[in-house]
Amino acid sequence: MVEAVQVHKSFGRVEVLRGIDLTVMPGEVACVIGPSGSGKSTFLRCINHLERIDAGAMRVDGELIGYREAGGRLHELRESEVARQRRDIGMVFQRFNLFPHKTAAENVMEAPRTVRREPRRAARERAMALLDRVGLSDKYDSYPAQLSGGQQQRVAIARALAMQPRLMLFDEPTSALDPELVGEVLDVMRGLAGEGMTMVVVTHEMGFAREVGDTLVFMDEGRIVEAGQPRDVLGNPQHERTQAFLSKVL
Ligand code: ADP
Ligand code: MG
Repeated sequence: MVEAVQVHKSFGRVEVLRGIDLTVMPGEVACVIGPSGSGKSTFLRCINHLERIDAGAMRVDGELIGYREAGGRLHELRESEVARQRRDIGMVFQRFNLFPHKTAAENVMEAPRTVRREPRRAARERAMALLDRVGLSDKYDSYPAQLSGGQQQRVAIARALAMQPRLMLFDEPTSALDPELVGEVLDVMRGLAGEGMTMVVVTHEMGFAREVGDTLVFMDEGRIVEAGQPRDVLGNPQHERTQAFLSKVL
């Protein structure tokens, strides 16, 4: 579902991704950990077209991200084609980024209404079903300010699911939450994984990574230092830098 081959990305003279190779099969959950500044968010943003890669290749569901192959040459996609690719990828950020002046249901309906021109009634019904799925059946008409951080993040997940993505990206979805609210968001993510959603999750929730992750990737300074089954990486890290990082966060 995701195939990154020697992905490089620089900002000015700073090389932030220095050759990332990662394969995520359909239905798999890949968790990404690593120190601040190691390039985790940039990598997710490259998968989702929020950044353009400088070198290497990125495929999502077999399709080159941002490019089309024709006669052995690469052609950059048109804006409309990029938009189409992006519709298949849902993303959830550390900050929930909900529209503050829209209710929970309206936030979830927004993309289906504007991008797909879904009729209001059908969009609202689907929004309610999605809010039910994330445990918010009593909050359809609440505004973000009336919701806890955990509830807002669950609305953000429902909103990302509204476009029926094939891939979900999570960038530290629980890092901004009070500790007692982390569990409810992880439960929703665990449920999604159980239903077979392909997910790439940047998180420092090691319990989640161990239990739900098929792969755990440790990034440092723009490289994947170590990757493997979470149990192995956490229990028996091979690289000194992984050991040092884990000794700080575990
Ligand atoms: P992480 O998510 O692992 O903390 P990031 O991917 O956010 O790391 O950032 C990696 C490095 O790239 C950092 O040094 C950061 O300052 C730099 N960086 C990220 N985005 C930009 C940008 N838009 N312009 C310049 N530098 C950036
Ligand atoms: Mg980050």
